[in-house]
Amino acid sequence: MDTIIEKITEDDHKNSSIYQKASEILKAGGLVAFPTETVYGLGADALDADASAKIYAAKGRPSDNPLIVHIADTDALYELSSNVTEEAKKLAKAFWPGPLTMILPKKEVVPDSITGGLGTVAIRMPSHPVAARLIRESGVYIAAPSANTSGKPSPTKAEHVIHDMNGRIDMIIEDDTVDIGVESTIVDLSEQVPTILRPGYITKQMLEEVVGEVRIDPAIMGSVKEGVVPKAPGMKYKHYAPDAQLTIVEGTLPKVIEKVNNLTKEKEAAGYKVGIMATQETKDQYTGGIIKVVGSRESEKTVAHNLYAALREFDQMGVQYIYSESFSTNNVGQAVMNRLIKAAGHTIIHV
Ligand code: AMP
Ligand code: MG
Repeated sequence: MDTIIEKITEDDHKNSSIYQKASEILKAGGLVAFPTETVYGLGADALDADASAKIYAAKGRPSDNPLIVHIADTDALYELSSNVTEEAKKLAKAFWPGPLTMILPKKEVVPDSITGGLGTVAIRMPSHPVAARLIRESGVYIAAPSANTSGKPSPTKAEHVIHDMNGRIDMIIEDDTVDIGVESTIVDLSEQVPTILRPGYITKQMLEEVVGEVRIDPAIMGSVKEGVVPKAPGMKYKHYAPDAQLTIVEGTLPKVIEKVNNLTKEKEAAGYKVGIMATQETKDQYTGGIIKVVGSRESEKTVAHNLYAALREFDQMGVQYIYSESFSTNNVGQAVMNRLIKAAGHTIIHV
């Protein structure tokens, strides 16, 4: 398949033809990748079971891992969900458009194939102008997981989407203004108490300010107990992982740096290529390896923004081992550490 690749520009006339083309593809049951404020999405008509099936094929995604349906106005909530709770209304008002996904009981129109057979549906209204306009102009609800090969780090730049999806989908809309860099917060409202199934930019505290008590699914950081299965089916899979073997080194900073330097020396002596996920504050203290600054230790946002791109760059350089510092879990930092721990397959060294 030839993939059409089009870049959003300053030229409104050209952009109009991009949206028109993309809308035609979506309405005809095809696949279009597009930017959102979190990561790039791989979209299809959510109510067309055959179209959505192509998403699973293009990504190599397990069929029990449901998709998020992207909408452009609140009315759509009532089209897709049979029970829009008071909490859902409040959260939509507070955080939409934005990086929050709500799980609600689904209506019959939503095909079982996109919900992994669950009686609930995940819904989000993105704030990114390209995503919003595409949903509006096409007039379809867009089912869209991240636009990466299943298991790999999510794409935050068009080059990542092209790397994973060129030749596998109909169209890629380029616009490297993806801001947050990690996927949306998922909150399950089909439970008695709203429960966070996946952390993101919208934190527990932010949600609690709007709806009162909010729980966090104990499986989120993965390390809680053997046999605790996450409620978001997607969270149980190996995820966000680079080809290289990623290890997180956790502890006081001087000890972390010393440990990473020792491990790097060891691996390099054995002939391996080593990458180090460093920060603005620590980069000068590493003595070997390929050092990549992911952001500042003072700003979780910068780390979130660059995390996936850094993991992909290490892979492109043919690095075999990556050592990463551990980061703050404040604010979006909880999402960062959730993704990093999964990417590392829970390989963490405490020093
Ligand atoms: P992605 O779009 O790649 O970010 O993946 C979507 C995430 O949303 C996965 O982790 C899914 O398991 C989760 N998800 C989607 N629909 C539901 C649902 N109805 N209930 C629970 N989790 C869901
Ligand atoms: Mg994903």
